[in-house]
Amino acid sequence: MSAEHPALEPWQWPEETWRKIVGRARAGRSLKPAAWPNGARCAVAISFDADHETIPLRDNDESPMRISQGHYGARQAMPRILKLLARESIPASFFYPAVAALLHPDEVRAVAGDGHEIGIHSWIHEVNTALPREAERELTLRSRDTLAKISGQEPVGIRTASWDFSVNTLDIVREMNLLYDSSLMADDDPYELLDQGEPTGIVELPPEWIRDDAVYFNMLRFSGLRPYTPPSAVEEIFTAEFDGAWEESGMFLLTMHPHITGHRSRLPLLERLIAHMKAKGGCWFATHAQIAAWCKR
Ligand SMILES: [Zn+2]
Repeated sequence: MSAEHPALEPWQWPEETWRKIVGRARAGRSLKPAAWPNGARCAVAISFDADHETIPLRDNDESPMRISQGHYGARQAMPRILKLLARESIPASFFYPAVAALLHPDEVRAVAGDGHEIGIHSWIHEVNTALPREAERELTLRSRDTLAKISGQEPVGIRTASWDFSVNTLDIVREMNLLYDSSLMADDDPYELLDQGEPTGIVELPPEWIRDDAVYFNMLRFSGLRPYTPPSAVEEIFTAEFDGAWEESGMFLLTMHPHITGHRSRLPLLERLIAHMKAKGGCWFATHAQIAAWCKR
């Protein structure tokens, strides 16, 4: 049932209904720039959603085992990831649920101190589309303030948890005057978000499940969802996505999670991917905020 027309089935909707639904947060003009900084061939936006313990917390799941899996992200994965990025001199964007940041404030300060970006990623990984508008707004504002206080860095971008951008999210992002969102998927390259046809000035840096580690590696114990794809296969997909971005002089945006990719068998795939990108050459490795600012110029 639609929020627009609760009494009608989609096949009964008048034209204005489906036009209004698709008009929310719609892709406007492409913001793929004519050139990247210093004549780079493509932009590489590496990001980590540092969810840590918030996934079971969000699910009202007090299982110490599942919370320990999230804790692994902070305890083992983050030091490995920060070491790799420092060795390769690559800046990245880290999106934190505010609760994960409150649980690991020293980590957040270390990430910011290394020159990486801190971005908004919900309060406790809540599902925005299940929230009343006012609750989503209040949690998003509180998350921004919490991250700013801990990191000393004012967040300018948001990635909704699970990319769960609700029918109210764009209004909240506009009210907060954020530079960009990274949750919607209408393009490979940056674009401007339209609000019912009206240009908003907000940059969308589109992610995709294809370029997300979770879909290949996550496992649900009591469901059929047990992919555990070999890292070599994931590397093949990510590499092909990067090669396509390089060919088209576009953006390659990758989303990973410390507790998923930070394992001994998996982080080397990122290392090999970075080696491939550097060997190919002409990559502008930048934070999401840097890329959004360049595209908006
Ligand atoms: Zn997340």
